Amino acid sequence: MVNKTILITGGAGYIGSHTAVELIQAGYKTVIVDNLYNASLGAVDAIGEITSTEPIFYKGDCTDSQFLKKVFTENKIDAVIHFAGYKAVGESVKKPLAYYKNNLDSTITLLEGMKEFGCTKFVFSSSATVYLDENVVKYNEKTTKTNRPFSPYGTTKLVQEYILQDTALGEEFESVGGLQVVSLRYFNPIGAHSSGNLGEDPNGIPNNLAPYITQVAVGKLDSLPIFGADYSTPDGTPLRDYIHVVDLAKGHLAGLDYVFKQSGKFFDPINLGAGKPVSVFEVIASFEKAVGQKIPYKIVERRAGDLPEFFADCAKAKEVLGFETKLDLDSMTADSWHWQKTHPNGFSK
Ligand code: NAD
Ligand code: UDP
Repeated sequence: MVNKTILITGGAGYIGSHTAVELIQAGYKTVIVDNLYNASLGAVDAIGEITSTEPIFYKGDCTDSQFLKKVFTENKIDAVIHFAGYKAVGESVKKPLAYYKNNLDSTITLLEGMKEFGCTKFVFSSSATVYLDENVVKYNEKTTKTNRPFSPYGTTKLVQEYILQDTALGEEFESVGGLQVVSLRYFNPIGAHSSGNLGEDPNGIPNNLAPYITQVAVGKLDSLPIFGADYSTPDGTPLRDYIHVVDLAKGHLAGLDYVFKQSGKFFDPINLGAGKPVSVFEVIASFEKAVGQKIPYKIVERRAGDLPEFFADCAKAKEVLGFETKLDLDSMTADSWHWQKTHPNGFSK
């Protein structure tokens, strides 16, 4: 048993729930907070089943300071992993105010609560979307950050990083020993828990490649639209860096170890990817192996904002976290499919 309690905001969501499992299995005490905007209690139940524990769960909103006060009062929190936020790129273009309000306010309110209760360890869910350098495809942590991500969602990630960096380096946490932040910049998480009991459960028609494919495979959608096959890449489709969600979850354990070793004023961004560019056609081929049938697709127009290629330089994660991914593309697609075929309607019965 690790004698540490970790607050996991957004812990009923896709990445948060997988991280909760890994933390509990590593012996941490966890406190899960989620407003269930994009998640269901079924995920909390699944965390309990997989770990044979009764998860500590609070339904509530990270923008609600009184609610957070209750959570911090009832639990001695040693560190926070902050997943809570809205994440749909397309929706953020239509509802920017809602995105700025929820994502920025939850981070600010959480920081205020942490300061009040003397909690100074913060692991943040950031994204490769903070980068943009047209001349670079392999992003390291020093790759130029864009000052205008493609979507309001992306901008909220960039601004949250600035809020965290400025707060870590400012004076407001000095009275409690300084704020230590690790900002984990995720590439493309896919996959599901190997038990088949935990996975991605998107609302409505999925925006992302893997859940779209599994919903085609299970017969909920007719065919996959491939957003362009005329890119200057080996097979014409864009290359991305897919990382198994369980590897990503383990990356948070490494991030926690790292942040616990720090003191004073500290902010450090670290990429979490597999470091291997993979095309849309390669993802489809891997799913076809897992499913045992062809995935129908149709090549359509390019999607606005899609880049031909980007992937992570993982050297820093290896050097400072000792973290490397272990699960390959075929494990990602096999686990995604296992989850989808056993839960065609996600967590709802
Ligand atoms: P998710 O939507 O499954 O999980 C986010 C959870 O936060 C949801 O369960 C939602 O109900 C909850 N939530 C939202 N606003 C809240 C609030 N104000 N208070 C309490 N709970 C709230 O998303 P995910 O894919 O698990 O992503 C987790 C984090 O990782 C997000 O911050 C996301 O932006 C970031 N991220 C995700 C990806 C990805 O591809 N999935 C990539 C990069 C970064
Ligand atoms: N993609 C696609 N059809 C879909 C969804 C995605 O062809 O229905 C492609 C998209 O163009 C990109 C890749 O799959 O090249 C990964 O897209 P996703 O939205 O999953 O992640 P992103 O890299 O955009 O964050």
